[in-house]
Amino acid sequence: MNLREKIRNVPDFPQQGIDFKDITTLLKDGKAFRVAIDMLSAHYQDKHIDVVVGPEARGFAVGAPVAYVLGAGFVPIRKPGKLPAEIISYEYSLEYGKDALEIHKDAIEPGSSVLIVDDLLATGGTTMATVKMVERLGGKVAGLAFLIELSFLNGRQVLAGYDINSLVQY
Ligand code: AMP
Repeated sequence: MNLREKIRNVPDFPQQGIDFKDITTLLKDGKAFRVAIDMLSAHYQDKHIDVVVGPEARGFAVGAPVAYVLGAGFVPIRKPGKLPAEIISYEYSLEYGKDALEIHKDAIEPGSSVLIVDDLLATGGTTMATVKMVERLGGKVAGLAFLIELSFLNGRQVLAGYDINSLVQY
């Protein structure tokens, strides 16, 4: 199964110069979706993951099935104002301006083993914000898993010291 072939490149989306990696073409293909989730999960089968944490929205589509395969729980990370109970938030800088993410305060048991899953690693900003929140709640980050890694953006350097896995690299 060539997963790379299943990912659609959309030039100049959402703005000029960005080559958008569209995973909807992979997700709608039942065989490709299953292979991708199984391959991503395999690496963590023996790592005793307690919870998978995924940022909205594509981190849900990839993270939740990985959690199911591993027999782990799933915890959503959301944009501000979406989570109903008590939250902590983390503000981070973008190229222009700022963004913030939130997690429920009681989402992570202190000392639990956490796998962070998202569709794509670019600069690492989203993942680093997620790591910070998980660690602030006392979770231990056991790994970071992505369908896609844009190697040329050096997200790995930002996330140095963490175990990183990706299925397709550009
Ligand atoms: P970053 O925080 O820079 O690592 O960006 C990662 C997040 O932005 C992921 O959740 C991706 O869904 C999204 N993203 C960034 N660049 C792209 C791209 N070229 N194609 C698709 N999604 C992207």
